[in-house]
Amino acid sequence: MNFLADDELHGRGSATRDEHITALFAASQFQSLGLEPGGDNGTFVQKSALPSPLPARAQQRITRFEDTPRKETWNAIGILRGTGAPNEVILLTAHLDHLGIGPANASGDTIYNGADDDASGTTAVLALAHILASGPRPRRTIVFALFGTEEMGGFGNRAFLAHPPVPLNTIVANLEFEMIGRPDPAVPAGTLWLTGFDRSNLGPELAKHGAHLVADPHPAQQFFRRSDNYALAQQGIIAQTVSSYGLHKDYHQPSDELSTIDFTHMTRAIASMVNPIRWFADSNWKPQWSPGGRPDTPRPDTSHPAPTTPAPASPK
Ligand SMILES: [Zn+2]
Repeated sequence: MNFLADDELHGRGSATRDEHITALFAASQFQSLGLEPGGDNGTFVQKSALPSPLPARAQQRITRFEDTPRKETWNAIGILRGTGAPNEVILLTAHLDHLGIGPANASGDTIYNGADDDASGTTAVLALAHILASGPRPRRTIVFALFGTEEMGGFGNRAFLAHPPVPLNTIVANLEFEMIGRPDPAVPAGTLWLTGFDRSNLGPELAKHGAHLVADPHPAQQFFRRSDNYALAQQGIIAQTVSSYGLHKDYHQPSDELSTIDFTHMTRAIASMVNPIRWFADSNWKPQWSPGGRPDTPRPDTSHPAPTTPAPASPK
């Protein structure tokens, strides 16, 4: 996480060279864990071209940020093949990009480090890969995927859906990790929340097996629709986001720095998910949508719109 959120990575701007370096870093981690490659041509990186010209909405999201070519995006994908039911897949995801270099805040900082958003989730997926790959092989296959270009509108995620490393209909569930680096005062200490908690029985079942997971206390924010899980859910895959984002003021600001991360919270949060995920990977239990829980209207470009974020303060 020190590496991901370091100033030298320039805030991992979507579809920039820095995003590519981040994907290569994650890929090297997956490789060192002995995972199977899930990317292009036997590698752990999946590259895809962005549309040209960029859709107006994506273009608008980067107007105030660094002026650099944004033609390709990079996902990092590793596979831990299951022994008993290799064609049943649990997908663990986060997004590896952030906003990059942009307008300075009042202290003159121009690097949007995205320590919480989403170096924390990326770190969770890497840590879970490390832990799960170190133990006995699970019954089901676990795919670890880190998406690029989430902040510009979910392009890495779309590339994954267009060229999935496993058939989409084999994915039993997707858990996305978004902004778990700080506790949310709206829920008890040491607790994470799951977006769209009541939309399926996944959260309640994982909680029954020890996960410190509760319902999202900020339903008005529509977080279920605001991360990469949503595009998967629109395909019918049970896909929900684990988070503890307490609506802090550093969201999408240069001040989303490593120094604000509560590592005790984050470590506990990740640790609480290990045994429930291991149980899930070894079980034959399949989560189901609750009546009316499955989203059915595909809406393009709904990822992460941040409806209430004010513009960063201009330098004085
Ligand atoms: Zn995010």
